[in-house]
Amino acid sequence: VTWWAVDIGGTKIAAARVDEGGGIQGEPVVLSTPAGHGSDAVLAQAVNALARLDPSGVEGVGISSAGVIDSSRGTVIGATESIAGWAGTELAAGIGRAVGLPATAIGDGHAFALGEAVYGEAAGHRSAVVLAVGTGVGGSYVRDRVPLQGSHWASGHFGHVPVPQAMGLPCYCGKTGHLEAIGSGAGMHRWYLANSGDPEVSSARQVVARVDHDAVAAAAVALSAAAVGEAAAGLANAFDPDVVVIAGGVSQAGSRWQEPMRSAFAAGLIPALQEISLLVSHAGGWLALRGAVHYARAQGNVE
Ligand SMILES: [Zn+2]
Repeated sequence: VTWWAVDIGGTKIAAARVDEGGGIQGEPVVLSTPAGHGSDAVLAQAVNALARLDPSGVEGVGISSAGVIDSSRGTVIGATESIAGWAGTELAAGIGRAVGLPATAIGDGHAFALGEAVYGEAAGHRSAVVLAVGTGVGGSYVRDRVPLQGSHWASGHFGHVPVPQAMGLPCYCGKTGHLEAIGSGAGMHRWYLANSGDPEVSSARQVVARVDHDAVAAAAVALSAAAVGEAAAGLANAFDPDVVVIAGGVSQAGSRWQEPMRSAFAAGLIPALQEISLLVSHAGGWLALRGAVHYARAQGNVE
């Protein structure tokens, strides 16, 4: 028995077959997201990606998507600025109808965190705070293999907790002072440029690569990492999970990022949590795809 999974992001759409044990079968299909062309075009591209997969023995579809997703109805209820017209999209119904299979949709932060909790770094632990730090910052608290989705399906917007390192910095949500404004890869890069960094440097990856010979880069990385560590400690204090998992592209930046992140985390914990494990995820594993299928199966929508 096999399922299809599709993960719809602002720049890429990934699809794969997922087996009984949650493993990826074969090579996932990755297509670009026609993000400026409206929700119908994005849905059609998701269906295109699925149509390239082997359909034999497939029981249903697990969908992971950017935006705030009401997974009880399979609809997008909160816009993400990265996909034009995405709010209001009937995600599960639209894709399910097009491919002729039952479909369930969940937010990508929830899907990814569930994948980490069941198949990834937090596997074997009963509860986890998963903080994904990439271009943006998100995640979820997961307990007993259930992601906390919240009363408005918006739980896990960890990028929008305030941290002192972000004070005064604008966040894409329209507020200021949020973790994402400095802790994300985009935030780190923006801070570097705003503080007389080399204007030729075009990404957070390049900022990190310069820490040994560029004082502004070293400061940007240290500040960004400290913001993530401090926020992670605050989340640990709030949820008291078995483990905290730091994932996402920025978390793979090496010791010059991980050391200040871990110091800030340790400094921010309340005494009761001093022994809590902070795990840095291994990159890869298509965890949002696997999490989306795990969620769909747990809902009983696909067998
Ligand atoms: Zn914000």
